[in-house]
Amino acid sequence: MITAKFSSLPLRAEELANIKSLGYLTMTPIQAQGLPTILEGKDLLAQAKTGSGKTATFAIGLLHKLEITTYQIQAMILCPTRELADQVTNDVRRLARSIPNTKVVTLCGGKSIEPQLASMERQPHIIVGTPGRILKHLDKGSLKLDKLRILVLDEADRMLDMGFHDEIMRVIKVTPHKRQTLLFSATYPNKIKKISNAIQINPIDIRVDSLHDNKKIKQIFYEVNPDKRTNSLITLLRHYQPQSSLVFCNTKQQCQELANELWKQGFHALALHGDLEQRDRDQVLIQFSNKSCSILIATDVAARGLDIKELHAVINFELSHDPEIHIHRIGRTGRADKDGMALSMFIKSEKFRIEAIENYKKSPVKIDKLASIKIKEKVKIYPQMVTLCINAGRKDKIRAGDILGALTGNTELVGDQIGKIDIFDKLAYVAVEQAIARQALRVLSGGKIKGRKYKVRMLR
Ligand code: ADP
Ligand code: MG
Repeated sequence: MITAKFSSLPLRAEELANIKSLGYLTMTPIQAQGLPTILEGKDLLAQAKTGSGKTATFAIGLLHKLEITTYQIQAMILCPTRELADQVTNDVRRLARSIPNTKVVTLCGGKSIEPQLASMERQPHIIVGTPGRILKHLDKGSLKLDKLRILVLDEADRMLDMGFHDEIMRVIKVTPHKRQTLLFSATYPNKIKKISNAIQINPIDIRVDSLHDNKKIKQIFYEVNPDKRTNSLITLLRHYQPQSSLVFCNTKQQCQELANELWKQGFHALALHGDLEQRDRDQVLIQFSNKSCSILIATDVAARGLDIKELHAVINFELSHDPEIHIHRIGRTGRADKDGMALSMFIKSEKFRIEAIENYKKSPVKIDKLASIKIKEKVKIYPQMVTLCINAGRKDKIRAGDILGALTGNTELVGDQIGKIDIFDKLAYVAVEQAIARQALRVLSGGKIKGRKYKVRMLR
């Protein structure tokens, strides 16, 4: 394996120091191949699977090219959803720490436009947003892109899947013709090639196919009876007891049905799909990432691009119809030198799909019998933590330390029992260990946070 160092790039010393402080020691393959192209000012068409470090690729590149003393929008990143835009904004801000006064503004729907209008008056350098809301600002005249130099389409395949093609084209129409366009995608369907032709000039085409590199993933297929899928899944969950698992279904209806089924059987499983309200989506992801929910059920579209760390297992409740998507799904476990597990359920008539997967990865897969799994007792799988939701957030000047203080101040609770704290504009979430959940709820709802009383509830 080649280890490519960031220091081989023409970056400033403070940029390198900041990258190092984030714990990025070597470049990922997409960074090693993509960054030189970006720094040279060329258009880039990059395909690499989820989790391969695409965000830092464009963020490091565009931050280096920013003229920080010029207060104009110089770079814009288009994302498919609000949560991805938030994720990208956070990453860009962290990578921008070495450049004082970098202004990044997020423009997404599902939020009132007034605060966005106010933040646009202060001429940000970088815009991150979803196509719909960006168009709205263009229509209102609150967003001017005539000085844009770098345009990024992140998760381009997903934006197209979600039907954003026309909106993207309308946005691009008002950007300067002479610009650098970077297109990032997890998959490479024909429509990506097409949109690249329409909006890029001689792009350097990079594909990092780490798809075949799945040695760290233990992959097993189980034939199941179509009427007993849910029970078969439960058998697998009880046997392997993954601490966190992402379960794929092919439709959002199936996701929701399965979540309800598992719920009835005592599993804390949550579904993530396109029909959820934004706040519900946030809450699902928060519970999964803070260990209050160990089973996330999702469609391919909903799961794409989400930066989920430490996934112990990917389970295919239904096989994907496309072998490339299958490999993509299971590639989400076993990242970063950790072993992963991929369990897939199939029915007899789907044998040909397994052959397609074998052909695609050019090696045979392991098929096991579900009957060979013997579960001694009915193991219950509880998540380690529970999430409490507090009706106060950033707007109320609440910080993580205030919540931790309220919980552990004059109580028997200790910091070790408190997990991740997430603060949003008007809400905050804190994970606490199961065993102290009720007590923590009493402490928070009975007492005060920063001198004020707030409503608190347990997410279930
Ligand atoms: P993608 O957009 O390709 O799905 P991300 O950009 O979200 O992937 O990166 C996935 C994870 O890898 C993030 O948590 C990010 O902080 C981390 N990461 C990115 N680049 C590096 C690097 N060079 N070294 C270590 N971790 C990295
Ligand atoms: Mg990404």
